[in-house]
Amino acid sequence: MVLRNAANGTYKRVILKDNRVIGAVLYGDVADGMWYNELLKSGDCVEDIRDTLIFGQAYQGGGAAADPLAAVANLSDDAEICGCNGICKGTIVDAITEKGLTSLGEVRAHTKASASCGTCTGLVESVIALTLGDSFEKKVEGMCGCTDLGHGEVRRLIKAQGLKSIPAVMQELEWKTPEGCAKCRPALNYYLLSDWPGEYVDDQQSRFINERVHANIQKDGTYSVVPRMFGGMTTSSELRAIADIVDRYDIPSVKVTGGQRIDLLGVKKEDLIPVWKDLNDAGMISGAAYAKGLRTVKTCVGKEWCRFGTQDSTGLGIKLEQYLWGSWSPAKLKLAVTGCPRNCAEATCKDIGVICVDSGYQIVYGGAAGLHIQGTTELGSVKTEEEVIEVVGALTQYYRETGFYLERIYKWADRLGYDHIRETIFDDPEARKAYADRFAFSQQFAQVDPWAERVAGTDAHEFTPMADLKLEAAE
Ligand code: SF4
Repeated sequence: MVLRNAANGTYKRVILKDNRVIGAVLYGDVADGMWYNELLKSGDCVEDIRDTLIFGQAYQGGGAAADPLAAVANLSDDAEICGCNGICKGTIVDAITEKGLTSLGEVRAHTKASASCGTCTGLVESVIALTLGDSFEKKVEGMCGCTDLGHGEVRRLIKAQGLKSIPAVMQELEWKTPEGCAKCRPALNYYLLSDWPGEYVDDQQSRFINERVHANIQKDGTYSVVPRMFGGMTTSSELRAIADIVDRYDIPSVKVTGGQRIDLLGVKKEDLIPVWKDLNDAGMISGAAYAKGLRTVKTCVGKEWCRFGTQDSTGLGIKLEQYLWGSWSPAKLKLAVTGCPRNCAEATCKDIGVICVDSGYQIVYGGAAGLHIQGTTELGSVKTEEEVIEVVGALTQYYRETGFYLERIYKWADRLGYDHIRETIFDDPEARKAYADRFAFSQQFAQVDPWAERVAGTDAHEFTPMADLKLEAAE
């Protein structure tokens, strides 16, 4: 049995044999995962509920089943709640009662339930609520063990109190630790960079290893180097330069990436600076393939080459990447521009996508195609490339100003609400322009190639990790 609801991103497939559940696949709404799993393990006959089985436990009649909390109450103690870490309901209940746990954070710390992908967070909270009854109050989670303040409160206070350095934040907001930790330092560094462009100086010591070394460290200790190719376009001279660099530095692997660029894999640490210099000399800059920031703008060939193309999707993708590169954001940001609704550039699963149509451009956002899979939601349609650039700049800036560190754009949009975001940066032209202007202002300070800085020795960044923060482990 299959239930597919494209509007809310739900897909359910339940497989039956002889009126018994033998398998289930859920995307989007996974709340009934435990229930299907219980039915699968018990081998109970589902003939009586077969017609409504696909809709979930709440549709099976009976007062208890219609109540999500009652549904969790009905789960057996060995029902698996956290699939990532294999934690059962009974383990969570025992930890709460035996150790006196009262919050999600404490349950995470003691049991590891909901500590990995987070999909089961709602279920874990239901188990806590059932176990503690009225004494359970859902609290805002602190950013980390260094503070009880959540990300939203910290962001608000940084602006409200004009805090412009990490020590100032820690002192004024009464951090519990003198130096912070691998969770809060990178977050604070990003918030200050985003809130005070041109004033706050990026603290490289508060960045994860890949951002500090401007390359992705690989499992054998070598690095991957990805030059930027605006809109996925390259030239014969760039390709010759890359080929010469591969030969010169004996780089073992060259890979075309999903973001339409070329990845040089296996670069030795001592060769990083000469490789960057040679790439710079050939006119290429860092592709920021390691960054919590703008990664790529993928494009299709568009109307210049394709008979279905409605607009110059490649040219627009290049313009967008030229506008956005260098910007830091709460999490990585990937875009695509596709020349018609056939969607060869896969714009509808990107953080931000542009779909060219005969009448102009549809702007979509909030897609995901990693651990979580989700199609984009439409933000609105415009008629010109200039409008696309303004809207994308405004959307990016709103995300930059209100996102929580490591919160991908689809999670941010879920938290703020798609209607609210559209009203804020699409329906209101003045607000849209104000956000776009702030983005353009901050780009003055952001569009500096880190490879060129490192080659010139003007960045003064430490090349070795700061051991006490253990940022590599967190990465
Ligand atoms: S998305 Fe449309 S325009 Fe672009 S390559 Fe595919 S068919 Fe052609």
